[in-house]
Amino acid sequence: MKKHNHDRTRASRRMVATLRVLQRELPALRTVKLRRRRLPDVEDAWATCELVTEEEEEDEPAYFLISLDSRLPEPAASWALLHELAHVLSWQTGGPRDETDHSPEWGLAMARLYALWELLP
Ligand SMILES: [Zn+2]
Repeated sequence: MKKHNHDRTRASRRMVATLRVLQRELPALRTVKLRRRRLPDVEDAWATCELVTEEEEEDEPAYFLISLDSRLPEPAASWALLHELAHVLSWQTGGPRDETDHSPEWGLAMARLYALWELLP
């Protein structure tokens, strides 16, 4: 790893704090990890959410991984975080589905998250 890469790939302290507050109010069944990184252009997405399973990460229980493109400025980065977190919450009942699934359950989760986020200092 190059010397200064670490700063760019780590989510900002503020965003990690935001995630912690949202998770306290609307907890996910599994740990949610957050990464800032430059997403490949071929994915045509500024943010992704995935379930990393035990087969992929041997000594670790499955967790949700939200990746936000490092080029996203605020407040778009925060909105992307809410969007992906809504996927995590709406997947919990039926397990992970297609990431493009913006179901009514996703919309409800997004509305709840947005309402909480708006009240943050
Ligand atoms: Zn989506």
